[in-house]
Amino acid sequence: MTLFINVDNAASLFGKMGIGNAIQQMALYIKADYCRWADFDKSPRTANHSESGVIELMPTDDGKQYSFKYVNGHPANAIRNLPTVMAFGVLADVQSGYPTFLSELTLTTAVRTAATSALVAQSLARKNSTCMALIGNGAQSEFQAIAFHEMLGINEVRIFDIDHAASLKLKRNLEAYTGITVTVATSVHEAVKGADIITTVTADKAYATILTPDMIEPGMHINAVGGDCPGKTELHADILRNARIIVEFEPQTRIEGDIQQLAPDFPVIEFFRIVRDNEPGRESDTQVTVFDSVGFALEDFSSLRYLHDLACKYGLGEKIHLVPSPKNIKNLYQLIEGTSGHSPVLRSQKSQLTSS
Ligand code: NAD
Repeated sequence: MTLFINVDNAASLFGKMGIGNAIQQMALYIKADYCRWADFDKSPRTANHSESGVIELMPTDDGKQYSFKYVNGHPANAIRNLPTVMAFGVLADVQSGYPTFLSELTLTTAVRTAATSALVAQSLARKNSTCMALIGNGAQSEFQAIAFHEMLGINEVRIFDIDHAASLKLKRNLEAYTGITVTVATSVHEAVKGADIITTVTADKAYATILTPDMIEPGMHINAVGGDCPGKTELHADILRNARIIVEFEPQTRIEGDIQQLAPDFPVIEFFRIVRDNEPGRESDTQVTVFDSVGFALEDFSSLRYLHDLACKYGLGEKIHLVPSPKNIKNLYQLIEGTSGHSPVLRSQKSQLTSS
Protein backbone atom coordinates (compact mmCIF):
# COMPACT_ATOMS: atom_id res chain seq x y z
CA MET A 1 0.00 0.00 0.00
CA THR A 2 1.06 3.62 -0.61
CA LEU A 3 0.98 6.20 2.18
CA PHE A 4 -0.98 9.27 1.02
CA ILE A 5 -0.62 12.71 2.62
CA ASN A 6 -3.19 15.29 1.55
CA VAL A 7 -3.05 19.09 2.03
CA ASP A 8 -4.85 18.94 5.41
CA ASN A 9 -2.41 16.28 6.66
CA ALA A 10 0.63 18.34 5.59
CA ALA A 11 -0.81 21.51 7.17
CA SER A 12 -1.48 19.61 10.38
CA LEU A 13 2.06 18.14 10.44
CA PHE A 14 3.69 21.58 9.94
CA GLY A 15 1.30 22.97 12.55
CA LYS A 16 2.31 20.29 15.07
CA MET A 17 5.99 21.09 14.52
CA GLY A 18 5.48 24.88 14.47
CA ILE A 19 6.28 26.39 11.08
CA GLY A 20 9.62 27.94 12.15
CA ASN A 21 10.78 24.63 13.55
CA ALA A 22 9.52 22.71 10.48
CA ILE A 23 11.49 25.01 8.15
CA GLN A 24 14.66 24.45 10.19
CA GLN A 25 14.18 20.68 10.23
CA MET A 26 13.48 20.69 6.49
CA ALA A 27 16.72 22.64 5.98
CA LEU A 28 18.64 19.89 7.82
CA TYR A 29 17.21 17.23 5.48
CA ILE A 30 18.10 19.39 2.44
CA LYS A 31 21.62 20.04 3.76
CA ALA A 32 22.18 16.33 4.43
CA ASP A 33 21.20 15.51 0.83
CA TYR A 34 23.35 18.31 -0.68
CA CYS A 35 26.28 16.91 1.34
CA ARG A 36 25.95 13.60 -0.58
CA TRP A 37 25.55 15.29 -3.99
CA ALA A 38 27.39 12.50 -5.86
CA ASP A 39 24.80 9.92 -4.76
CA PHE A 40 22.06 11.57 -6.84
CA ASP A 41 21.09 11.00 -10.44
CA LYS A 42 20.66 14.58 -11.67
CA SER A 43 19.04 16.15 -14.72
CA PRO A 44 17.39 19.49 -15.56
CA ARG A 45 13.63 19.22 -15.13
CA THR A 46 11.31 18.54 -18.06
CA ALA A 47 9.20 21.60 -18.82
CA ASN A 48 6.07 21.85 -20.98
CA HIS A 49 5.50 25.50 -21.77
CA SER A 50 2.30 27.20 -22.89
CA GLU A 51 1.29 30.84 -23.33
CA SER A 52 -0.09 30.97 -19.78
CA GLY A 53 2.58 29.06 -17.89
CA VAL A 54 4.59 25.89 -17.50
CA ILE A 55 4.09 22.35 -16.17
CA GLU A 56 7.26 20.61 -14.99
CA LEU A 57 8.40 17.17 -13.88
CA MET A 58 11.36 16.94 -11.50
CA PRO A 59 12.87 13.47 -11.02
CA THR A 60 15.91 12.25 -9.09
CA ASP A 61 17.10 9.19 -7.14
CA ASP A 62 19.88 8.20 -4.78
CA GLY A 63 20.05 4.54 -5.82
CA LYS A 64 17.68 3.51 -3.03
CA GLN A 65 14.77 5.93 -3.29
CA TYR A 66 13.37 7.68 -6.37
CA SER A 67 11.28 10.85 -6.28
CA PHE A 68 9.50 13.12 -8.70
CA LYS A 69 7.53 16.32 -8.31
CA TYR A 70 4.80 17.60 -10.61
CA VAL A 71 4.72 21.40 -10.41
CA ASN A 72 3.22 24.19 -12.46
CA GLY A 73 3.86 27.92 -12.72
CA HIS A 74 0.92 30.00 -13.97
CA PRO A 75 1.41 33.65 -12.87
CA ALA A 76 -2.11 34.69 -14.02
CA ASN A 77 -3.89 31.89 -12.16
CA ALA A 78 -5.44 34.38 -9.69
CA ILE A 79 -8.11 35.13 -12.34
CA ARG A 80 -9.07 31.43 -12.12
CA ASN A 81 -8.95 31.59 -8.31
CA LEU A 82 -6.08 29.09 -8.37
CA PRO A 83 -2.56 29.41 -6.89
CA THR A 84 0.33 30.30 -9.22
CA VAL A 85 2.23 27.20 -8.06
CA MET A 86 0.59 23.78 -7.36
CA ALA A 87 2.46 20.55 -6.78
CA PHE A 88 2.40 16.92 -5.70
CA GLY A 89 5.06 14.23 -5.61
CA VAL A 90 6.02 10.62 -5.11
CA LEU A 91 8.72 8.61 -3.35
CA ALA A 92 9.35 5.13 -4.76
CA ASP A 93 11.58 2.16 -3.99
CA VAL A 94 14.34 1.96 -6.63
CA GLN A 95 14.77 -1.81 -6.25
CA SER A 96 11.15 -2.67 -7.05
CA GLY A 97 9.71 0.57 -8.48
CA TYR A 98 6.93 0.44 -5.88
CA PRO A 99 5.50 3.91 -5.06
CA THR A 100 5.74 4.06 -1.28
CA PHE A 101 4.59 7.65 -0.66
CA LEU A 102 2.30 10.09 -2.49
CA SER A 103 2.01 13.60 -1.13
CA GLU A 104 0.72 17.09 -1.65
CA LEU A 105 3.69 19.37 -2.36
CA THR A 106 2.18 22.85 -2.78
CA LEU A 107 2.44 23.85 0.86
CA THR A 108 5.54 21.70 1.20
CA THR A 109 7.23 23.49 -1.74
CA ALA A 110 6.81 26.83 0.06
CA VAL A 111 8.48 25.32 3.14
CA ARG A 112 11.31 23.69 1.14
CA THR A 113 11.97 26.79 -0.98
CA ALA A 114 12.20 29.00 2.10
CA ALA A 115 14.39 26.43 3.89
CA THR A 116 16.73 26.26 0.88
CA SER A 117 16.90 30.08 0.56
CA ALA A 118 17.82 30.49 4.23
CA LEU A 119 20.26 27.57 4.18
CA VAL A 120 22.14 29.11 1.24
CA ALA A 121 21.99 32.59 2.82
CA GLN A 122 23.68 31.26 5.98
CA SER A 123 26.87 30.99 3.88
CA LEU A 124 26.33 34.12 1.79
CA ALA A 125 24.68 36.89 3.80
CA ARG A 126 26.83 39.06 6.10
CA LYS A 127 26.92 37.55 9.59
CA ASN A 128 25.35 40.60 11.27
CA SER A 129 22.37 40.81 8.87
CA THR A 130 19.12 41.95 10.52
CA CYS A 131 17.05 43.58 7.74
CA MET A 132 15.53 41.96 4.64
CA ALA A 133 13.53 43.50 1.79
CA LEU A 134 10.89 41.10 0.46
CA ILE A 135 9.62 41.94 -3.05
CA GLY A 136 6.59 39.87 -4.11
CA ASN A 137 4.21 39.19 -1.24
CA GLY A 138 2.26 36.20 -2.58
CA ALA A 139 1.97 32.57 -1.49
CA GLN A 140 5.70 31.97 -0.84
CA SER A 141 6.39 35.18 1.07
CA GLU A 142 5.46 34.34 4.71
CA PHE A 143 7.62 31.20 4.53
CA GLN A 144 10.60 33.21 3.24
CA ALA A 145 10.28 35.80 6.02
CA ILE A 146 9.95 33.18 8.75
CA ALA A 147 12.89 31.13 7.39
CA PHE A 148 15.19 34.18 7.42
CA HIS A 149 13.98 35.14 10.89
CA GLU A 150 14.56 31.66 12.34
CA MET A 151 17.77 30.75 10.52
CA LEU A 152 19.56 34.11 10.13
CA GLY A 153 18.09 36.33 12.85
CA ILE A 154 16.34 38.74 10.47
CA ASN A 155 13.96 40.79 12.61
CA GLU A 156 13.06 43.66 10.25
CA VAL A 157 11.28 42.95 6.96
CA ARG A 158 10.40 45.65 4.43
CA ILE A 159 7.84 44.43 1.96
CA PHE A 160 6.58 45.53 -1.46
CA ASP A 161 4.17 44.13 -4.03
CA ILE A 162 2.38 45.75 -6.97
CA ASP A 163 -0.74 44.23 -5.38
CA HIS A 164 -1.15 46.22 -2.15
CA ALA A 165 -3.68 43.70 -0.80
CA ALA A 166 -0.97 41.00 -0.98
CA SER A 167 1.34 43.17 1.14
CA LEU A 168 -1.40 43.78 3.73
CA LYS A 169 -2.06 40.02 3.86
CA LEU A 170 1.65 39.34 4.44
CA LYS A 171 1.89 42.01 7.13
CA ARG A 172 -1.20 40.60 8.92
CA ASN A 173 0.14 37.03 8.80
CA LEU A 174 3.61 38.03 10.03
CA GLU A 175 2.21 40.17 12.84
CA ALA A 176 1.00 36.96 14.46
CA TYR A 177 4.63 35.81 14.38
CA THR A 178 6.60 37.34 17.23
CA GLY A 179 9.93 39.03 16.67
CA ILE A 180 9.49 40.37 13.12
CA THR A 181 8.87 44.07 12.47
CA VAL A 182 7.10 44.53 9.12
CA THR A 183 6.97 47.77 7.12
CA VAL A 184 4.98 48.07 3.90
CA ALA A 185 7.05 50.11 1.40
CA THR A 186 5.63 52.20 -1.43
CA SER A 187 8.27 51.12 -3.99
CA VAL A 188 11.02 48.56 -4.55
CA HIS A 189 13.55 51.40 -4.09
CA GLU A 190 12.17 52.27 -0.67
CA ALA A 191 12.03 48.61 0.43
CA VAL A 192 15.62 47.73 -0.53
CA LYS A 193 17.45 50.88 0.62
CA GLY A 194 19.93 49.88 3.33
CA ALA A 195 18.69 46.26 3.54
CA ASP A 196 21.23 43.48 4.24
CA ILE A 197 19.33 40.91 2.19
CA ILE A 198 16.88 41.28 -0.71
CA THR A 199 14.50 38.45 -1.54
CA THR A 200 12.69 38.70 -4.88
CA VAL A 201 9.81 36.26 -5.13
CA THR A 202 7.57 37.75 -7.81
CA ALA A 203 5.56 35.94 -10.47
CA ASP A 204 5.44 37.32 -14.00
CA LYS A 205 6.10 35.46 -17.22
CA ALA A 206 8.45 38.16 -18.49
CA TYR A 207 12.04 39.39 -18.60
CA ALA A 208 11.33 41.62 -15.60
CA THR A 209 13.91 43.83 -13.90
CA ILE A 210 12.59 43.99 -10.35
CA LEU A 211 16.09 45.01 -9.22
CA THR A 212 18.35 47.42 -11.13
CA PRO A 213 22.06 48.09 -10.43
CA ASP A 214 21.39 51.47 -8.78
CA MET A 215 19.49 49.68 -5.96
CA ILE A 216 22.38 47.42 -5.02
CA GLU A 217 24.72 48.36 -2.16
CA PRO A 218 28.07 46.75 -1.25
CA GLY A 219 27.70 43.61 0.88
CA MET A 220 24.07 42.87 -0.03
CA HIS A 221 22.91 39.29 -0.49
CA ILE A 222 20.20 38.77 -3.12
CA ASN A 223 17.96 35.74 -2.81
CA ALA A 224 16.35 35.65 -6.28
CA VAL A 225 13.54 33.10 -6.17
CA GLY A 226 10.99 34.15 -8.80
CA GLY A 227 13.12 33.99 -11.99
CA ASP A 228 12.81 30.29 -12.65
CA CYS A 229 11.82 29.75 -16.28
CA PRO A 230 13.13 30.61 -19.75
CA GLY A 231 11.93 34.17 -20.42
CA LYS A 232 11.10 34.79 -16.71
CA THR A 233 13.71 36.80 -14.82
CA GLU A 234 13.90 39.35 -11.98
CA LEU A 235 17.41 40.85 -11.97
CA HIS A 236 19.10 43.29 -14.34
CA ALA A 237 21.97 41.40 -15.99
CA ASP A 238 24.58 43.91 -14.70
CA ILE A 239 23.74 42.95 -11.09
CA LEU A 240 24.70 39.39 -11.96
CA ARG A 241 27.85 40.43 -13.79
CA ASN A 242 29.13 42.11 -10.61
CA ALA A 243 28.21 39.41 -8.11
CA ARG A 244 29.33 36.05 -6.75
CA ILE A 245 26.59 33.75 -8.07
CA ILE A 246 25.50 30.55 -6.39
CA VAL A 247 23.21 28.06 -8.15
CA GLU A 248 21.66 24.70 -7.30
CA PHE A 249 22.36 22.51 -10.38
CA GLU A 250 24.21 24.47 -13.06
CA PRO A 251 22.78 22.77 -16.20
CA GLN A 252 19.21 23.53 -15.04
CA THR A 253 19.91 27.09 -13.84
CA ARG A 254 21.61 28.01 -17.14
CA ILE A 255 18.24 27.30 -18.80
CA GLU A 256 15.85 28.66 -16.17
CA GLY A 257 17.61 31.04 -13.79
CA ASP A 258 18.39 34.74 -14.00
CA ILE A 259 21.78 33.69 -15.42
CA GLN A 260 20.01 32.76 -18.68
CA GLN A 261 20.81 36.43 -19.49
CA LEU A 262 24.59 35.82 -19.20
CA ALA A 263 27.14 34.17 -21.46
CA PRO A 264 27.02 30.37 -21.01
CA ASP A 265 30.55 30.32 -19.55
CA PHE A 266 30.02 33.10 -16.98
CA PRO A 267 31.34 31.61 -13.71
CA VAL A 268 28.84 30.34 -11.13
CA ILE A 269 29.28 28.06 -8.10
CA GLU A 270 27.06 25.08 -7.32
CA PHE A 271 25.79 25.15 -3.74
CA PHE A 272 26.99 21.63 -2.88
CA ARG A 273 30.60 22.89 -3.08
CA ILE A 274 29.88 25.51 -0.44
CA VAL A 275 27.92 23.23 1.85
CA ARG A 276 30.79 20.72 1.74
CA ASP A 277 33.40 23.48 2.36
CA ASN A 278 35.07 22.96 -1.05
CA GLU A 279 34.45 26.65 -1.80
CA PRO A 280 33.92 29.66 0.45
CA GLY A 281 30.50 31.33 0.54
CA ARG A 282 30.83 35.10 0.97
CA GLU A 283 34.46 36.25 0.47
CA SER A 284 34.28 39.78 1.93
CA ASP A 285 31.88 42.15 3.67
CA THR A 286 31.58 44.29 0.54
CA GLN A 287 30.98 41.50 -1.97
CA VAL A 288 27.51 41.29 -3.54
CA THR A 289 26.23 37.71 -3.55
CA VAL A 290 23.30 36.23 -5.50
CA PHE A 291 21.50 32.95 -4.96
CA ASP A 292 19.89 32.34 -8.38
CA SER A 293 17.25 29.95 -7.04
CA VAL A 294 15.12 27.90 -9.45
CA GLY A 295 14.25 24.90 -7.26
CA PHE A 296 16.02 21.57 -7.77
CA ALA A 297 14.67 17.99 -7.60
CA LEU A 298 17.04 17.06 -4.75
CA GLU A 299 15.22 19.56 -2.48
CA ASP A 300 11.89 17.87 -3.25
CA PHE A 301 13.46 14.46 -2.58
CA SER A 302 14.51 15.86 0.83
CA SER A 303 11.10 17.36 1.53
CA LEU A 304 9.31 14.10 0.65
CA ARG A 305 11.69 12.25 3.01
CA TYR A 306 10.97 14.77 5.77
CA LEU A 307 7.20 14.65 5.28
CA HIS A 308 7.24 10.84 5.18
CA ASP A 309 9.18 10.71 8.47
CA LEU A 310 6.77 13.20 10.08
CA ALA A 311 3.70 11.29 8.84
CA CYS A 312 5.07 8.02 10.26
CA LYS A 313 5.98 9.69 13.57
CA TYR A 314 2.49 11.15 14.05
CA GLY A 315 0.55 8.31 12.38
CA LEU A 316 -1.04 10.70 9.87
CA GLY A 317 -2.11 9.92 6.31
CA GLU A 318 -4.02 7.19 4.60
CA LYS A 319 -2.83 3.88 3.09
CA ILE A 320 -4.19 3.81 -0.47
CA HIS A 321 -4.35 1.17 -3.17
CA LEU A 322 -2.45 3.21 -5.81
CA VAL A 323 -1.01 0.27 -7.75
CA PRO A 324 -2.63 -3.18 -8.06
CA SER A 325 -1.69 -6.22 -6.02
CA PRO A 326 -3.54 -9.10 -7.71
CA LYS A 327 -3.36 -12.55 -6.07
CA ASN A 328 -1.73 -13.84 -9.27
CA ILE A 329 0.61 -11.05 -10.41
CA LYS A 330 0.32 -12.26 -14.03
CA ASN A 331 -3.47 -12.08 -13.89
CA LEU A 332 -4.18 -8.34 -13.92
CA TYR A 333 -7.45 -9.18 -15.70
CA GLN A 334 -8.85 -10.74 -12.51
CA LEU A 335 -9.17 -7.20 -11.08
CA ILE A 336 -11.95 -6.31 -13.53
CA GLU A 337 -13.82 -9.60 -13.17
CA GLY A 338 -17.08 -8.95 -11.38
CA THR A 339 -17.16 -5.24 -12.25
CA SER A 340 -20.23 -4.18 -14.29
CA GLY A 341 -19.93 -4.37 -18.08
CA HIS A 342 -16.77 -6.48 -17.95
CA SER A 343 -17.94 -9.54 -16.06
CA PRO A 344 -17.64 -12.83 -17.97
CA VAL A 345 -20.89 -13.83 -16.18
CA LEU A 346 -22.74 -10.80 -17.55
CA ARG A 347 -21.39 -11.47 -21.03
CA SER A 348 -22.60 -15.10 -21.01
CA GLN A 349 -26.05 -13.94 -19.78
CA LYS A 350 -26.13 -11.41 -22.68
CA SER A 351 -25.36 -14.10 -25.27
CA GLN A 352 -28.13 -16.31 -23.80
CA LEU A 353 -30.60 -13.41 -24.18
CA THR A 354 -29.65 -12.78 -27.86
CA SER A 355 -29.90 -16.49 -28.77
CA SER A 356 -33.33 -17.05 -27.15
P1 NAD B 1 2.12 34.35 -6.19
O1 NAD B 1 1.46 34.56 -7.50
O2 NAD B 1 1.30 33.87 -5.05
O3 NAD B 1 2.85 35.72 -5.73
C1 NAD B 1 3.64 36.47 -6.59
C2 NAD B 1 3.47 37.93 -6.22
O4 NAD B 1 4.39 38.71 -7.05
C3 NAD B 1 2.07 38.49 -6.48
O5 NAD B 1 1.51 38.98 -5.28
C4 NAD B 1 2.30 39.59 -7.52
O6 NAD B 1 1.43 40.69 -7.35
C5 NAD B 1 3.76 39.97 -7.26
N1 NAD B 1 4.41 40.66 -8.35
C6 NAD B 1 4.38 40.39 -9.68
N2 NAD B 1 5.12 41.29 -10.37
C7 NAD B 1 5.65 42.13 -9.43
C8 NAD B 1 6.51 43.26 -9.51
N3 NAD B 1 6.96 43.70 -10.70
N4 NAD B 1 6.85 43.89 -8.37
C9 NAD B 1 6.39 43.47 -7.17
N5 NAD B 1 5.57 42.39 -7.03
C10 NAD B 1 5.21 41.73 -8.15
O7 NAD B 1 3.32 33.34 -6.47
P2 NAD B 1 4.20 32.56 -5.41
O8 NAD B 1 3.67 31.17 -5.22
O9 NAD B 1 4.45 33.39 -4.22
O10 NAD B 1 5.55 32.38 -6.25
C11 NAD B 1 6.35 33.51 -6.51
C12 NAD B 1 7.41 33.17 -7.53
O11 NAD B 1 8.32 32.23 -6.98
C13 NAD B 1 6.87 32.53 -8.81
O12 NAD B 1 7.52 33.14 -9.91
C14 NAD B 1 7.26 31.08 -8.69
O13 NAD B 1 7.45 30.48 -9.94
C15 NAD B 1 8.55 31.19 -7.92
N6 NAD B 1 8.93 30.00 -7.14
C16 NAD B 1 10.22 29.65 -7.17
C17 NAD B 1 10.64 28.56 -6.41
C18 NAD B 1 12.09 28.18 -6.40
O14 NAD B 1 12.44 27.14 -5.88
N7 NAD B 1 12.97 29.02 -6.91
C19 NAD B 1 9.72 27.81 -5.66
C20 NAD B 1 8.40 28.24 -5.64
C21 NAD B 1 8.00 29.34 -6.39
